[in-house]
Amino acid sequence: MKTLQHYIDGRWVSPIEPGSVFPVINPADETQVAEIRMGSAADVELAVAAAHRAFASFASTPLDERLEMLRRLKAIFVRRIDEMADAITTEMGAPHDMSRDAQAASGPDHIEATLVAALQLDWETRIGTSNVVREPVGVCGLVTPWNWPINQIMAKVAPAIAAGCTVVLKPSEQAPLSAQLVAEFIDEAKLPPGVFNMVHGTGPAVGHAMSAHPLIEMMSFTGSTRAGIDVAKTAADTVKRVAQELGGKSANIIFDTADVERALDGALAGIFGNNGQQCLAGSRILVQRGIADALIERFVQRARKIRLGDPMLPSTEIGPLAFRQHMERVLSYVEVAKADGATLLTGGRRSEQHEKGWFIEPTAVLAPHNDSRVCQEEIFGPFATFLVFDTLDEAIHIANSSNFGLVTYVWSEEIGRAHV
Ligand code: NAD
Repeated sequence: MKTLQHYIDGRWVSPIEPGSVFPVINPADETQVAEIRMGSAADVELAVAAAHRAFASFASTPLDERLEMLRRLKAIFVRRIDEMADAITTEMGAPHDMSRDAQAASGPDHIEATLVAALQLDWETRIGTSNVVREPVGVCGLVTPWNWPINQIMAKVAPAIAAGCTVVLKPSEQAPLSAQLVAEFIDEAKLPPGVFNMVHGTGPAVGHAMSAHPLIEMMSFTGSTRAGIDVAKTAADTVKRVAQELGGKSANIIFDTADVERALDGALAGIFGNNGQQCLAGSRILVQRGIADALIERFVQRARKIRLGDPMLPSTEIGPLAFRQHMERVLSYVEVAKADGATLLTGGRRSEQHEKGWFIEPTAVLAPHNDSRVCQEEIFGPFATFLVFDTLDEAIHIANSSNFGLVTYVWSEEIGRAHV
């Protein structure tokens, strides 16, 4: 079985302190596929020191050379895209087509977008009597989640390298296989040692040590709001810059003027795509009263037909949830919904068709009001919450009555109403 190591200063290394060993479990069949030797603050120290040493020369490496490194990395990514897709499906259970064509493909896409942006940017401009110069920030700490692992990693790594920053990445402990491949690709692309470093470990041990480290100039964090608050507070002590992408409980508003078939497609994809494990999931579905009963009935019928199964099979539409504790947390919201006075419309239990794996049936509930916990808390699974509204103003009020603020979807054939 593969043991995953840190990648520090251009070498694969074991943790300095003998820490815990974390099993990497395939969520579709519960088999162990690898293990991670979890890191600690001591490994962060080593990685930051390497990144800091490398920054001195990398920051002044000509832009052309940095972009050439990214082109080499992109070519490797494209050549090894199937390996990356296998890793993503094995670690977090997304259907393989999605892992390859959307998740893994976002790696080279982010590199390409960075190359284009870097060539368009005025790195040094004279405006009046001022010289405006764009300079790399320094060592960047990157912390990423498990749900779209490569998208998150490469959206941070590619621009950092183009800018001349050096990085320490802490990938999610729940999605370490794809991160390991990124480190392999970077090794193969022969980036200078210390430009990219990766430390495996938990958020409280490794991620927190990064947020606190005085030589890290910037933290780029994607994950839950709870962890993001800790990152921001900790980073404040050393006056770091912080960039964050956090959770969501996004409203998907369907007016009675919508093309119902398209709105249904959108609502189903919005909450069941990637098994609902998406920050921008349309998890609160607001339907105008006149069409509510019929639309909800059709939604439930179609949800029951979704093909749940082995994510390696092309016929599968939804795979398992990413890990056991996550599945248990998602299922716990069925009781929360009932306590709120919500009605269970479909699903709400583990799939009986699967003896192994963290499969749950696509679930939908009708909530009594927007203050219910199922309307206010991010469940992050295949769990749709319906609310019924009467007027445009009511829909806007409900959509905005949330502690989250990520996206909103609007379905109407009256463009004026959609653009209010
Ligand atoms: P999480 O917050 O549990 O973990 C995310 C990462 O942060 C992991 O690497 C984790 O180990 C680390 N971490 C945890 N506690 C930390 C701490 N105190 N200090 C530093 N690092 C810490 O989130 P998750 O379960 O991995 O991912 C799901 C969450 O991510 C959801 O809330 C989802 O909405 C959000 N997300 C947001 C976006 C976006 O673009 N807004 C994209 C993807 C995921």
